[in-house]
Amino acid sequence: MKWLKQLRWQIVASHGVVVLTGVLILLLTSQMMIGQRVTQLDHPNQVELLTAVNQSVLYALLMAALGALVAGIVLSLILTRQILKPLHEVGVTSQRIAGGHYDERVTLPDSVELRALALNFNQMAEALAQIEQKRVQLIANVSHELRNPLTGLEGYIEGLMDGVFPSNPETFAQMYQEVRRLRRLVNSLQTLSHVEARQITLAVEAFDITVLVGRVVHQLKPLLLAQNIQCEVQLLQVPLFIQADTDRVAQILVNLLGNAIRYTPEGGHIRVQYQLQTERVGIAIIDTGVGIPAEALPYLFERFYRVDPSRARNSGGSGIGLTISRHLAWMMGGDIAVTSPGLNLGSTFILTLPRIHS
Ligand code: ADP
Repeated sequence: MKWLKQLRWQIVASHGVVVLTGVLILLLTSQMMIGQRVTQLDHPNQVELLTAVNQSVLYALLMAALGALVAGIVLSLILTRQILKPLHEVGVTSQRIAGGHYDERVTLPDSVELRALALNFNQMAEALAQIEQKRVQLIANVSHELRNPLTGLEGYIEGLMDGVFPSNPETFAQMYQEVRRLRRLVNSLQTLSHVEARQITLAVEAFDITVLVGRVVHQLKPLLLAQNIQCEVQLLQVPLFIQADTDRVAQILVNLLGNAIRYTPEGGHIRVQYQLQTERVGIAIIDTGVGIPAEALPYLFERFYRVDPSRARNSGGSGIGLTISRHLAWMMGGDIAVTSPGLNLGSTFILTLPRIHS
């Protein structure tokens, strides 16, 4: 009975059952009613007439049953064709997509339900195509990023072999710089893959964010002094408790403050301010630096995105820091937002995290 598992024959069979049930009920009721009438008749002519009528009813029922059966079979075959064709197309297209043809889409059928299915399928195919495109882009970006420090190292080694570069501590220090760049990049890539896959275990606890901000600013003091940048942190009279992972929040703050220092010219100014809401705390890092053009703002948190690639690369930036920070903030129930009035007008990054009341 394998054929009965096919939708086509199931629909044909269901139509057949409907027709047979109808015919059977008609047959039974007509026979019952005619049988009753026969017993009430006393004239032979009347009995003969009723028997003739009964035969005509039976004949008409037979014809109706045959007609209904043929119509049922034809209609169910048309119906199954209408259902099966789009389903078949979805099956074939999904096989093609699985084979790497991400641009394949199914045609939209007329039936409302099947149209919804086809639309959902096409949306899923579109999402897969975008993921694939991002994957290809990621490989291109990673190889591009690796090429720079590798080319630098290659140059130094060739120079040393040819005797162009002296084998002295300065040359080795330059080579070491390139190796460190490589190490930083590989570390960032590893962290990025972990945060994107949510493979990071958080040690969430309640702590005073103002203490952590003070610690991070202190840690970055040498960079602030080197660039003669003033950093002013808002002082609060009371502790401000948040619920998060201390180390991860510190990591985000180092990224945001580090960027503020990196993209603020000498003699600039950075302010850290708290924005208090009932459920959340905003930590705003406001700088008087190079700013961000409006068209770049939507892409700032994308992997490897840099407003000015050559400038960021020279200062050691890989364009992954903000991507990692935002994922970490999301994992802790927070977010990072950015605003900037435009180029050379400074930027504001706001990290929000869940607040708890002590
Ligand atoms: P990077 O390591 O390149 O700094 P990020 O992901 O931390 O990577 O930052 C991405 C880009 O965002 C930077 O290359 C820079 O163009 C821009 N950016 C980040 N912070 C600032 C800021 N405070 N002022 C101006 N531009 C910034």
